[in-house]
Amino acid sequence: MSQLITKYSKEYYELDSPTVSDIEYDKLFKELQALEEQYPEFKSASSPTNSVGSSAAKKFAQHKHKARLYSLDNTYSYQDLELWYERLQKNYSLSTPPQLVCELKIDGLAISLNYENSEFVLGATRGDGVVGENITPNLKTITAIPTKLNANIASLEVRGEVYMPVAVFEQLNHIQQENNAKVFANPRNAAAGSLRQLDPEITRERNLSMFAYYGRLDSNELNITSHSEMLEFLKSQGFNVNPNYKICNTIEEAVNYCKTWDTKRKLLDYATDGVVIKINSFAIQREMGYTARAPRWATAYKFPPEEVSTIVEDIEINVGRTGAVTPVAVLQPVYISGSTVQRATLHNFDEIKRLNINIGDRVLIKKAAEIIPKVICVTEHAKKSAKPFARPKLCPSCASELVPLDGEVNWYCPNKYKCPAQIKARIEYWAAKDCMDIEGLGGNIVSQLVDCGLVYTVADLYKLSVGDIKKLSLFADKASQNLYGAIQSSKKPTLPRFINSLGIKHVGKEMSELLANKFLTLQGLQNASFDEIMSIDGCGEKIANSILDFFADSYNNDILKDLTNCGVIPQNIDDTKLSRNFVGKTFVITGTLSEPRDTISALIKSHGGKTSSSVSKNTTYLLVGDNPGSKYDKALSLGVDIINENEFRQMIGS
Ligand code: NAD
Repeated sequence: MSQLITKYSKEYYELDSPTVSDIEYDKLFKELQALEEQYPEFKSASSPTNSVGSSAAKKFAQHKHKARLYSLDNTYSYQDLELWYERLQKNYSLSTPPQLVCELKIDGLAISLNYENSEFVLGATRGDGVVGENITPNLKTITAIPTKLNANIASLEVRGEVYMPVAVFEQLNHIQQENNAKVFANPRNAAAGSLRQLDPEITRERNLSMFAYYGRLDSNELNITSHSEMLEFLKSQGFNVNPNYKICNTIEEAVNYCKTWDTKRKLLDYATDGVVIKINSFAIQREMGYTARAPRWATAYKFPPEEVSTIVEDIEINVGRTGAVTPVAVLQPVYISGSTVQRATLHNFDEIKRLNINIGDRVLIKKAAEIIPKVICVTEHAKKSAKPFARPKLCPSCASELVPLDGEVNWYCPNKYKCPAQIKARIEYWAAKDCMDIEGLGGNIVSQLVDCGLVYTVADLYKLSVGDIKKLSLFADKASQNLYGAIQSSKKPTLPRFINSLGIKHVGKEMSELLANKFLTLQGLQNASFDEIMSIDGCGEKIANSILDFFADSYNNDILKDLTNCGVIPQNIDDTKLSRNFVGKTFVITGTLSEPRDTISALIKSHGGKTSSSVSKNTTYLLVGDNPGSKYDKALSLGVDIINENEFRQMIGS
């Protein structure tokens, strides 16, 4: 459990790409806390319940904080909040209930700003609370951070949350999507990714902002005695203090504040994930102190995952690259958990029946794992007596009659070769990140290329001239050159990447690698027998048959020939020279190498080696690129062999 929490923390703090929702993470964290309380003898010193955040990335200079930065304990229940307040009064024998300050919990990235003689001198991320990343140049690009205080102050540390306004986040994601670049799951990840950039100009372009919520003066000549006084002082010094904070004299008032903001937060232009409740008096705060990871004098109430109501304006039918037909609910745009949602997949027609959903109905939606919009249920039918939504009989793109496939819930458009929707989806898939990775070739451009008759198959992409691309709407000279260049430079893919790009049903990235390592050339795979494919570990009948069907199809073979004629030739894996070197060896990669990680991983695998995402005593080599992460320290501590890219290339003789 502890390892799983560490893995999730790494994804969240270091990679800015969480794979589970906060609520799932918090549940797991609480389970571990409860177990450790029950069996303290098994609690390890390195337990995540003792630590804060994640260690500072090596790509930035390290900054040791003058005073430690903490996390916050949290709860999703009002009752727990009341118990927390009761316990504090009892444990600290307070004769009167202490005053509280409630603030919105801004969902961004914690930072610490240091001012000397009223000048902003250094800013850092929280890191593990003791050492953070010095990101001063990046913070200087944020206009909400004053570079000079209004008063003469010898030394002041200010802490706050850097965030990305929702409108900026939506615009950024729109641009990223158009450019076939990484789309951020929510404004928090976008803010963290934008702030921890090596180039401050990128941070500047991202229009980040900040709310200050904590100040620490080295000497107390100003006689500030409470948190609310400190907030007002910060305001007077030019900081952005969230205007919605409230002093509460009872816990009931604090609970009401939480209830009010659970609804009102939807109107804000920044993401909040809860309310922070703090004891106002500094004297009482000092008496209460801190646990290993959080102050005792504060706690966070986390809002439940949002569920919002909206209307289904239409049910559209999406046709994918394999011809599978998926219903999608087109929603009246609604803001939820950090972004505006307009579409939610309904998966298949059985799901429509299960939800009993129809056009015009009012539905409740939420984001699964706070990322993917999902319809939970219908709350009000538009017409009580309406007939159930009927599955269309014809493909919405080419009007072919839809057909079922044995043993599948999906219906399919059988017009594989001419259906425009399938053609577009296959080309879009070909250009995607894990496939040929053609930057700038997103859905919108693919759609234009197909609609104006320039492209029918993936091979046609390589026949386009700069002039052809320029004909598309909104394409200027430079953009046409760039797209042309990106297409041309994708001509020599690794074999696994090429196999993945073909879009063979049931064959994803991992399976493509295994197939490439087994058959070494595209021809080898094309000529493979059922038994040979089945001999691959993890390959079942469904996959083997799908591969055989794909290569038996003359349409696919014509495209493959056409690709070869256009010079698109995957790199063979040279078994005789290469494949024995790494048998029995496990590699972990950290930092930036000269080629994408999956290319290097494929290289390792083509030499018989394995790759793993984390360092352990079973790791043979840590392959280190620029700006390595914490894996480097772990490998050092475990005595794992550390090699750089040159040494790696020598090992494989390239
Ligand atoms: P946190 O975000 O729950 O709370 C502490 C932080 O709140 C502070 O460091 C500060 O940055 C921030 N904050 C915002 N507004 C504030 C205010 N007004 N006053 C004081 N602080 C304020 O804690 P954390 O340690 O940053 O992260 C832990 C949480 O992150 C977990 O509870 C979980 O929800 C989430 N998390 C999720 C995953 C995942 O995989 N989904 C992984 C790790 C952590």
